[in-house]
Amino acid sequence: MHRTSLKIRLLGLSVAFSAALVGAILLVTYLVVTKAMRDTAEAGVAQLAVPAKVAFDRRTEMARESVAADPSGAGASSAAVEKALLDGLDELDSTGALGAAGYALHDASGELLWSTTDGHVLPAGPARARVLAAGASGDVTQYGARPLSGLLGSADMGDLAMHIPVELPFSGAAVLDVVYSPHREEAVIDSVRAPMTLLAVIAAMLSLFIMQSGAAWVLGLVEVLRKAADSIQAGEPEVRLPEVGDNEVGDLARSINEVIRKLDRRAEAQARFVADASHELATPVAGIRGYVNILRVWGAEDPALRDEAVGAIDRESRRMARLCAELLSLVRGDRETEFRSVRFDVNARCREVLADAATRNLGRQLEFIGPGEGQLAMVGDPDRVEEAISILVDNAAKYSQAGGQVSVTTRRRRDHVLVEVSDTGAGIPDEDLPHIFDRFYRSDASRSAETGGFGLGLAIAKRIIEAAGGEIEVRSTLGSGSTFTVRLPRGRP
Ligand code: ADP
Repeated sequence: MHRTSLKIRLLGLSVAFSAALVGAILLVTYLVVTKAMRDTAEAGVAQLAVPAKVAFDRRTEMARESVAADPSGAGASSAAVEKALLDGLDELDSTGALGAAGYALHDASGELLWSTTDGHVLPAGPARARVLAAGASGDVTQYGARPLSGLLGSADMGDLAMHIPVELPFSGAAVLDVVYSPHREEAVIDSVRAPMTLLAVIAAMLSLFIMQSGAAWVLGLVEVLRKAADSIQAGEPEVRLPEVGDNEVGDLARSINEVIRKLDRRAEAQARFVADASHELATPVAGIRGYVNILRVWGAEDPALRDEAVGAIDRESRRMARLCAELLSLVRGDRETEFRSVRFDVNARCREVLADAATRNLGRQLEFIGPGEGQLAMVGDPDRVEEAISILVDNAAKYSQAGGQVSVTTRRRRDHVLVEVSDTGAGIPDEDLPHIFDRFYRSDASRSAETGGFGLGLAIAKRIIEAAGGEIEVRSTLGSGSTFTVRLPRGRP
């Protein structure tokens, strides 16, 4: 697969961001300045329109008066009034009194009657028609502007015009156009462009620099992590990722270090487990080999010795078989996460466990007391629950003296079922309590008592109970007995 380094990606991102920043700064500035200039120009046109109307009305009056006072008597002719008015307007134009705008006069049919020499004559349009129909001035209208001009090239705002309705003495309603070409405003827009572009480019370079420095810092941290990871991979197990600073990269390093520590602990535990298992197996194997040698040398001549050796081989091989079964159960507990989920009576299972234990311990004068006749239903895997309780009951019997009691009581507490396995046996020394659930752990007392256990029973029981979502705890008083309490979720029976 094509691989693009993070560095290149970050560079691409920074460049794209900086370019977008330049564009955004330029566009926003352009829009703000253009709007301001247009507002200024429109206000200028509106201002020019007022004196223009006054001047026009005044000239109309003057034309009418001059024609009426004409001794030749031509005053009645509207053509004379028209001529006098248009002459008057030309005269006004030539004095320069009309200011910065251009003017044009159209009659109601749209025909041009008069215009200033430098003014723009605008084509007929809806704005002028609207003013005629309404008989009142409308808003300022923009003609011929090029949209977004001024952003990259020189600005062109076209012409701004205000249409004013006027009354002509000779032909009735007409419209006076006040037309303004906003060259000054365009010049302002043009003059802002260069410095704004420069500013935007400086801002973009700055942001590019800052983003690249940030990216270089993060990539530097990642590089440090990578080097450390390479060293670990190359077989330096003590190396840990540097937990650089209180930031996300530091957090990542801390999490990975924690994972490495866990894996180390697991590998250690596994190695210890294999060593312990081999050690446990080595003892019966050595015993068997010893007795086989005895058989080989004296077996034929001494029948008593032969019987003793065969008996011992039988015992040791049974012990090996038991150890193998327990190891298998432990490994299965490690792997099996799927538990059956069926409804069953915990009390009935406990009674069965106790009956089996009583049979196995016949002649040891132990009393086995079980839950009464009642039922206690729960949902779970009955065989695994029975296996765990059976381990606890067997231990209770194993570590009890003649005349002792082994009892199992059950209780329901809210969503849980509690099973208590108690004995009146030897009890467990305080220093052993934290370890009895560890694999292959046996207290010194039970080692010397030769009870025949491997120290796997409680580890198996705990595994099963925890996999079923429950927990196990122990209370014990040395010399007077122990109580193991199992708490299992009841399910929905
Ligand atoms: P084992 O096969 O040795 O019994 P377990 O894992 O079942 O292994 O138990 C671990 C150790 O905990 C035992 O060796 C014993 O010292 C102690 N222990 C467990 N159950 C009891 C009990 N009911 N009374 C006294 N000691 C117990």
